[in-house]
Amino acid sequence: TPDIRPLVAGNWKMNGTRASLGQIKAMAEGVKGSLSEKVETLICPPATLLYVATALCDDSPLMIGAQDCHQKQSGAHTGDISAEMIADCFGTHVIVGHSERRTDHAESDALVRAKTEAAHAAGLLAIVCVGETGEERKDGKTLDVLKRQLAESVPDGATAESTVIAYEPVWAIGTGLTPTASDVEEAHAFMRSELVSRFGAAGAKMRILYGGSVKPGNAKELMGVANVDGALIGGASLKAEDFLAIYSAY
Ligand code: PEP
Repeated sequence: TPDIRPLVAGNWKMNGTRASLGQIKAMAEGVKGSLSEKVETLICPPATLLYVATALCDDSPLMIGAQDCHQKQSGAHTGDISAEMIADCFGTHVIVGHSERRTDHAESDALVRAKTEAAHAAGLLAIVCVGETGEERKDGKTLDVLKRQLAESVPDGATAESTVIAYEPVWAIGTGLTPTASDVEEAHAFMRSELVSRFGAAGAKMRILYGGSVKPGNAKELMGVANVDGALIGGASLKAEDFLAIYSAY
């Protein structure tokens, strides 16, 4: 989208130990060129690596975020982490509503919305994930699902500065399958019109990432689709070489 700075973001999921920090270091070095003025980059390692990862990126444009946050600021929620804790580790972003959270932890749209509000309250940029399952696509319900998830997972106060949308067809995540460029174009155009009708100028500027089996080999085509303002990358974000190759597709 014209006038939008794309974001290339990596989601490490439940992968990565201290031994993987070399990859983050290599990414931090690899994004130091002039392309970083045009394209933002982000890696979301597991929470265990957050603090040390942000220290590694001190002098790099590579930003570090988390993969989830609790909807409350603190309290009796064993095992959870709050948006404040992420900000305290110098994380700047948090992914919310990833399909694996929606499935593994039965997260509802209402919960995703509450988490997004918690992220905003802590000053984090929230990456709100939406996307249809394979079954929903077969039944022709893709746009209905996107409409509902956008309406119910994104809070009223969302702005282009505080919120990024990630379109991740569930059937394309980790499968090597991707929608055709024209299917991606249709979904993103639909989401853009939904965002504009709800948020006006902010909706026109809000980034909409594509996610689902983005690889160095298909990045250029997918990132070139209208209204695709970057990528959310799972598997191919684990290795600096792949992540930097996708970034370099811009
Ligand atoms: C993801 O989990 O956000 C994702 C898109 O995964 P992958 O790139 O591995 O399909």
